[in-house]
This record gives sequence, C-alpha cells and structure tokens, in this order.
Amino acid sequence: MISQRVKRISPSATLAISSKAKEMRRQGIDVIDFGVGEPDFDTPDHIKDGGIKAIEEGFTKYTPAAGIPELREAICRKLKVDNGLQYTPDQILVSVGAKHSLYNAVQTLCEDGDEVIIPAPYWVTYPEQVKLAGGVPVIVETDPEEGFRLDPDRLAKAVTPRTRLLILNSPQNPSGAVYPAEDLKAIAEIVVENGLYVLSDEVYEKLVYDGEKHTSIAALGEEIKRRTVVINGVSKTYAMTGWRIGYAAAEVEIIKAMAKLQEHLTGNPASIAQKAAVEALEGSQKPVAEMITQFAQRRDYMVERLSSLAGFVCPCPKGAFYAFPNISQWHGKTIQGRRIGDGTDLAAVILEEAHVAVVPGTGFGFPDCIRFSYATSMENIKEGLDRIERLLSGASW
Ligand SMILES: *Cc1c(COP(=O)(O)O)cnc(C)c1O
Repeated sequence: MISQRVKRISPSATLAISSKAKEMRRQGIDVIDFGVGEPDFDTPDHIKDGGIKAIEEGFTKYTPAAGIPELREAICRKLKVDNGLQYTPDQILVSVGAKHSLYNAVQTLCEDGDEVIIPAPYWVTYPEQVKLAGGVPVIVETDPEEGFRLDPDRLAKAVTPRTRLLILNSPQNPSGAVYPAEDLKAIAEIVVENGLYVLSDEVYEKLVYDGEKHTSIAALGEEIKRRTVVINGVSKTYAMTGWRIGYAAAEVEIIKAMAKLQEHLTGNPASIAQKAAVEALEGSQKPVAEMITQFAQRRDYMVERLSSLAGFVCPCPKGAFYAFPNISQWHGKTIQGRRIGDGTDLAAVILEEAHVAVVPGTGFGFPDCIRFSYATSMENIKEGLDRIERLLSGASW
C-alpha cells in the first residue's frame, strides 16, 4: 500500500541514533549525546520577544505564501551586507526551514532522470530529496586529505549530458569543510560551461573558525549567480531550529515557480516565526558572536582529544559544529569481544558500551568516519570523551 516513491527513500540516519539514545535514556541510562544537529544555546531573548509581540498583536493569520515583505526585505539586506549579493524581494522565498527551501528547489529544477551531483560526505537529506523529485543522485567522493572539498577535476569528470544540478554545502555538514573562493571559482566555471545549476546550502555560514571566511558561490559573477539558488536560514545561526524559517534566493523565474509549489504544499511559514526571523536578522548580532566563541573552544578541545585516541585520524574542521574523524584503522580490531568493521560498528559499541551517542558516517556516504557534534556543553564533551577513551583503552589492538 505504500508508494514506490516513498519506499525508495531511506530514514534519516541522524534521527535513528537519537531515537536509540532516547530509548536508552528512558531505561535510566545516562547517555552523553554527540549526535545532536542543532545548537544547544537558547534562542536569544530579543528574537523570542519578536515572536511574543507578534502573538500579542494578533499577527496570527495567513501571510503571503512566499513570506512577509518585511522579512524578504530583511533577507535582501542580509545577503547584500554579508555576502555581497544583490537581490530584490521578488527573488526571495521564505520556507518552513532551509530543508523545505531545498526541497522546493530540487522539485523545481529537476526533471525525471536528471542527474544531480552530490559531493560525499553529504548531508543525509540531499540524495533523498533528489530521489523524491525523480532525479538520480550521482555521488562524487572528496578526499579527507584535501579537507573534504570537491576536486574540480572530479566534478568535471562526473558531468554527463543528463547532469542538471550540483548540490554544494559550505561550511559542510558533517566534515566541517569550508570552500575558499578559489575552489568555488573553479567549480563555478564548470557549472557555467556545462549549463548546470547549483544549490548552495549556506546554513552554517556564520560558524567558521581560525579566521576562515565564508564565500557564496553566487557572489563570483553574474553568470554563476543566475545559475545558483542560495539556500540559508535562521536555524543554525540564531539557535532557532524549532521556529522553522529558511529561505532561498535566485532568479525571479525560479523563485516564482518554487513559490507556486510552496503555495500548494504548506502555504506560508508560521507568521509568528517570520516576525521572530526579522528580529534575528535586523537585531543585535552579539549573541551570534558569543556562540561562535564557545563553539571554537569546544572544537579545539574535541579535535585534540579525538586526535589522541588510538586509530582516530581527525582533520581539524574549519566550520559548522562537527568533527568527522576517520576510524578505518579499527577495522578488524576487537572491543569488549566485539569485532569492528566500519564506523557503524564502532558507533554502536560506543553507544552501547560507553553510553555516548555518535553518528556513523554511512548515512553521509562515508562509512569509515564517525560524526561527533560539539553542540553540547564543555562538561558533556569532557565526560563523553573520557568514556570513549576508557572504552578504547581496553580494546585489543
Ligand atoms: C541543519 C541543516 C539544514 C536545515 O536547516 P533547517 O533550516 O532547520 O531546515 C540544511 N542543511 C544542512 C547541511 C544542515 O545541517
């Protein structure tokens, strides 16, 4: 009775781990969670106040499906100031989270049988959204030694006459890769030459460290801008994951088509959340800076501890809030009598024996790695890593 279309998609690997961890917690087990994909900070007060005010003023009805003009204007200002991108409000679509903007974009740009290039590791949702649109995900591996960034030569080789789209994500989840402008330039040339389109997922743009700078591929020239759908949102930057506000910026024709689709799917995103998002974009950015400082400290600590573990190779992530160590040296080793194959086995042992939840790389298309989120307190990070260290020190190596 279930359609083939829905049968074809896989459940979210990140959600699978968190439900297992929740089940253990219900049984009274104290689980440290490194599986989280959202900031542990509270939404800043002035943003909450924006939502409260909207409720009190009765701003609780349908809005234009593509978002209120005030928010679309605020997004235009943000894109201009932060990214050097010139858009008008009719080039902006506000959706129910960046995930929803991505979905609208893939549905709008992808024909049945079109190939969509996705660099691995990738965010778990991309291939599934492509499959839902009737497209064919074409996975192109990246090299950990090259900072998990897509090599333009490999990209060029993957392009066929059926290629339609490239999905780029920088800063990247799960690897923390941040693409410098030179890389993006080389990629943009291939995109333009072959008449492709780019979905540029920039939701982690503010979370960069070591003086790294985020560049939007759309900012590299008029031609590539016309071929790019910029995807962003307030979830990660402002600790607003539950408010569900994301957005897309692109050519008017593309945005109009995406908005038409959204009108029939969800209509407008929550009116209250839209008002809060205006506050987020236009209000004080100080809470963002404080959050970045804390993430940077946690990253340094976590990467140092992970690198000191036997059989862990942990490149230093430049952005987002994840470490993504390679654990392939554990292949064939035994921990507490259990033989380890890939990251899925090691993640299972770490959860069951050390009571620390981590996400195996399989769901991200990189089975030799494991994702550790540092979107949790320093105290939890210390305790979780202590537990893992104790577990691994008892292994036969
Ligand atoms: C969290 C995340 C999103 C989705 O964010 P929402 O705006 O909450 O839907 C999109 N892309 C990546 C890579 C993410 O990690």
